Amino acid sequence: MSSVAELKSDTASQTVYFRCVAGCAEKHSIYDVIYTCPTCGSLLEVHHERQPLKKRNAYQWQQLFDSRASTSSWPYGSGVWGMREWVIPSLADENVVSMFEGNTNLFWAERLGKQLGVPDLWIKLCGNSHTGSFKDLGMTVLVSVVKQMMAQGSPVKAVACASTGDTSAALAAYAAYAGIPAVIFLPAGKVSTAQLIQPVSNGAHVLALDTDFDGCMKIVQEVTKDDSIYLANSMNSLRIEGQKTVGIEIVRQFEWEVPDWIIIPVGNLGNISALHKGFQLMMDLGLINRMPRLVAAQTERANPFYQSFKNGFREKVSVTASDTLANAIRIGDPVSYVKAVKAVQETDGIVEQASEDELAAAAAHADLTGMFTCPHTGVALAVLTKLIKRGVIKSSDRTVVLSTAHGLKFTDFKVGYHESTLEGINSQYANPAVHLPADASAVKDEIAKRLNL
Ligand SMILES: *Cc1c(COP(=O)(O)O)cnc(C)c1O
Ligand SMILES: [Zn+2]
Repeated sequence: MSSVAELKSDTASQTVYFRCVAGCAEKHSIYDVIYTCPTCGSLLEVHHERQPLKKRNAYQWQQLFDSRASTSSWPYGSGVWGMREWVIPSLADENVVSMFEGNTNLFWAERLGKQLGVPDLWIKLCGNSHTGSFKDLGMTVLVSVVKQMMAQGSPVKAVACASTGDTSAALAAYAAYAGIPAVIFLPAGKVSTAQLIQPVSNGAHVLALDTDFDGCMKIVQEVTKDDSIYLANSMNSLRIEGQKTVGIEIVRQFEWEVPDWIIIPVGNLGNISALHKGFQLMMDLGLINRMPRLVAAQTERANPFYQSFKNGFREKVSVTASDTLANAIRIGDPVSYVKAVKAVQETDGIVEQASEDELAAAAAHADLTGMFTCPHTGVALAVLTKLIKRGVIKSSDRTVVLSTAHGLKFTDFKVGYHESTLEGINSQYANPAVHLPADASAVKDEIAKRLNL
């Protein structure tokens, strides 16, 4: 492998590099400590020149990715690194920090779909992963690049992020696996117990601040101005490279057919940008010939993107996010706004919102058909219900809901729902455990009553 200095001087010949999303001409090495365009301040994106990737045709790429999926060969058995050539091809094997993320279940929600009137309904269970959310897909890429930077003498000593919970869990786990110190900034009292205890357990430096996510974000940007601490939030577009594989994986799981709709809960807007980027790459290389329509789902309590959509994206709206059960998307000033607008506009997409009551009901309803949905997935399912009722999503449409986290990270939400103690929520599907004496006849009576025996 080449040294950092060589990689830096060598950006001209690189075919994968950072470039400005607003179109400034400069290229930057992905091994540089850089997050925004030095000329105009816009976000960067990792760009893959298409020509070198056209050495394989669409069918050959499909064959290659199919052949690697779920194998145990390092690092290709990872859903992310199975697409290595499309992610970060210049990483050395020994610097890949992977826990074999991705390859998550594309769950056929047959019973729920029939009840809602869309039998071709699928839930992409991104939360069935190492730290319980899709954030693992991005962190494997970011931490791997950091490992390679450190191996080549970069000044980086640690990684840091502000988080609504899941980002910090993923960063802490991958950093601990690689032996790199992690500093985590959380809004005090605004993350779930499971989300807080993951970075604590993984030995991260966990700093709980008396502010919200947007406040933590400001602090972490100050702290990471110095090159010794590397910023791991999604304004760092390396994460997008890992997350973009989810759309490719969905299409692969459908034997390279494109679904009609993908509904995704959004906060900072990194994940929807990533989803779009993966589809764009497949289009450019001829693996698919149409885009799915992307639907961004927000909670009414943190709906800046919805408001921007309503004003025809004439201007970016920012809000002060309020308390919501969907705490991982409690974001008022989304970083990846520009990329997400493109994702919606170029896919004939939609932005819709859901209330607390709607998200809780949608999650509980889905659970009754065998799932265990997190509140963010509840937001997406509530939006699905609205779009079906409005006739936008038709009964024959193939629809995918992206489930972003595992419900087990949100047991407080589940318990509160079924005990009917969530403020302002009508727990119409509550199914609390019943407390009975250890007496066979009392038990028989209760069962007979419940099953109408
Ligand atoms: C991070 C996260 C989101 C939102 O993703 P963005 O990239 O911030 O839009 C949604 N759901 C869960 C569970 C998350 O952890
Ligand atoms: Zn620029």
